[in-house]
Amino acid sequence: MKNIEKTATDLSAKHFSRYGEFLVSFELSKYGWNVYNPVYDEYIDLIVHKHVCMKCGKTWILTPALICKNCGKDFSKTQKHNIIAKKICLECKNIIIGNKIKCNNCNSDKLLNQPSCDKCGCEIEMIEHSCDCQNRTYITKFRSIQVKSSRIEYKDSISKHTYAVDMKPRDLIRDEYHFYIWCLLDDEDKAHFLILSVQDFIDTMGESIKGISFFKDQDRQHFSSRDFGKWAKFLNRFDKLE
Ligand SMILES: [Zn+2]
Ligand SMILES: [Zn+2]
Ligand SMILES: [Zn+2]
Repeated sequence: MKNIEKTATDLSAKHFSRYGEFLVSFELSKYGWNVYNPVYDEYIDLIVHKHVCMKCGKTWILTPALICKNCGKDFSKTQKHNIIAKKICLECKNIIIGNKIKCNNCNSDKLLNQPSCDKCGCEIEMIEHSCDCQNRTYITKFRSIQVKSSRIEYKDSISKHTYAVDMKPRDLIRDEYHFYIWCLLDDEDKAHFLILSVQDFIDTMGESIKGISFFKDQDRQHFSSRDFGKWAKFLNRFDKLE
């Protein structure tokens, strides 16, 4: 029996919608967003957040780095096991290596812990992150996202070369931090992403947002799968989330 390759068109509507949310999630990760799923599905499909430098916008690392005070060696990631457990006796200044609880010179138990560098022997300290641009402040960004997914429309097994997205009045969450991401799967299973704010949607809809079909939840945005029609200007606009 010949193996027939399956595509996203073989997914049920419900599974396809979830599939789109995952594709959007992975895509958002590429732009440095941490992605969270709400417990209940109520118009917001994803919450995303990131920390960035206030000045240049670069991703901010919130965990402190472990750096040698003297030579600058970074122990934060792969070098942890090379940190020397050095203790200094407060009575006689004797230096002890290893997990001793008493000084092997004067028997005092007043020992000072000093995690030390294996390269130069100096003290390692915890340093708060600062950006390459020398800035020391960051901002936290939160965005809420509604995902709508569409496959190419077919009629009687003939491609209509269109996508269709359902938008309803209840989707119009009037918040400047709320965005729509439309995930459009072509016949090669390649995803295309349109990113628009609520205001972008309202502006692009124009008068039809006051139309009866929109009010009655019967509005569908049909647009060309070749050039995305009037929605083309939102293609890959992940910068809008910033
Ligand atoms: Zn910066
Ligand atoms: Zn060092
Ligand atoms: Zn001692």
